[in-house]
This record gives sequence, structure tokens and C-alpha cells, in this order.
Amino acid sequence: MKTIGLLGGMSWESTASYYKEINEGIKTVLGGLHSAKICLYSVDFDEIEKLQHKGCWDKTAKILSNAAKAVEAGGADFLLICTNTMHKVAEEVQSSISIPLVHIADATAEKLITDNIKRVGLLGTKFTMEQGFYRNRISEKHGIEVIVPDEQDRDIVHDIIYNELCLGKINDSSRSEYIKIVDKLFSQGAEAVILGCTEIALLIQQQHTKVPLYDTTTIHAAQAVKLATCKSAS
Ligand code: GLU
Repeated sequence: MKTIGLLGGMSWESTASYYKEINEGIKTVLGGLHSAKICLYSVDFDEIEKLQHKGCWDKTAKILSNAAKAVEAGGADFLLICTNTMHKVAEEVQSSISIPLVHIADATAEKLITDNIKRVGLLGTKFTMEQGFYRNRISEKHGIEVIVPDEQDRDIVHDIIYNELCLGKINDSSRSEYIKIVDKLFSQGAEAVILGCTEIALLIQQQHTKVPLYDTTTIHAAQAVKLATCKSAS
């Protein structure tokens, strides 16, 4: 079994989901008392969040690159950044290490392609919904059209992520807001919606809507399990 490297803490609420889902996945594949070999570096999210909102992405890249080097030195065979937003600096992180980075948008797009989804809605932080690093990767590299909520709804989605989900607060009223936005994306022609923030599945799950949801945490964690257990990687 390969050792899975994780850059977490962004927020730790979602890193806990990764830890659980990866271990459950390894148990399903290998059975018995098997559990995942994980090397996790968990950062202080307060520092990262302040730099994000000031636009100091170069500083966040430095912090994550140093953390990635420590994960590689700790024996990881490949690396996951456990947040969609921080894939903004994925290239810098990848260039600082020699193990491969498993990109969350690629893993998600591959699943959408398998399911023949051609037009998808995207929920996430405003960085993820508005900037090219994520949307363009899905549309240009993988040929899937991406649509996002209007500006007012993007504010709602973003604020709920930082003011509630990253703090472990799960509110029914916020769930209703999210579901309304999911429904709007569907009525605009989205065949499915990407939960493109690793905390969103703490708030909405498939049971809350008929619109197919693609949870990036689950997809990314499943990809890690596959890579850790597949023959060529063992
Ligand atoms: N975990 C979130 C994401 O997947 C947001 C927190 C962050 O800014 O990293 O984008």
C-alpha cells in the first residue's frame, strides 16, 4: 500500500472528512483491520484565510510548498491538497516536490466524464467560482461547460463557507439557501452540480435534492484510495 500525503487544515472540518473517508475506503478495499497509511500536514487556517482575502497568494504558496516538502520527507508517495480553493497555487506546490499532486479538479472532471455530464454548475468559494484556475481547468482541459451562480448568490455561498461551515456550524436556513441556488443552476441547464468546496457536503447531501451532486471531498478521497491500493502503485 502506498502512503497518502495530505495537506489539510483548510479547514480542519473537511480534513476530518478526508481522514474518515480515506480510511473507510481502504477498509472496504483491503478489509479487516487495514487502515490508510497517511502523512498529514495540517496548517493554521486563520493564517491562510487572511492571506487569501488580502490576495497574497504567493505567501500561501510558500506555506503550502514548505508543508508539501515535509509531507514528502515524511514518506508520502503522492499528495492531495484537501481544499479546492488552494489549488490556486497547485502548480507552485507541485514544482516544490518530486511526488505527484493529485489535482481535485481533474479527479472531479474524470467522474463527470464517466457519467457523461456535459454542463455542470459549480459551488465553492468566490475564488473557486470566479477565477480561472478551477473553472478553466474543467472546461478547457476536460471539455465540460461550467456555470456558476449570479453575484448575489456567489456572496451567499462564499459567506456561508467561511462564517459557518469552516467553523463547524451547520444551519438549516443555510441549507435551504444552498438548495435554492442548486435548483437555479439546474433550471439554467446544469445537469449536475459540483460541491467545489470540501466543506459543502457537511451542509447538503444528495438526500436534499434531486439534482445530481458531485462532492469533491468524496471524489478526491476515493481517488487517493484507488492510487494507494492499485497494483502499479503498491
Ligand atoms: N475547503 C474549502 C475549499 O475546498 C474552502 C476553504 C479554503 O479556502 O481553503 O475550497
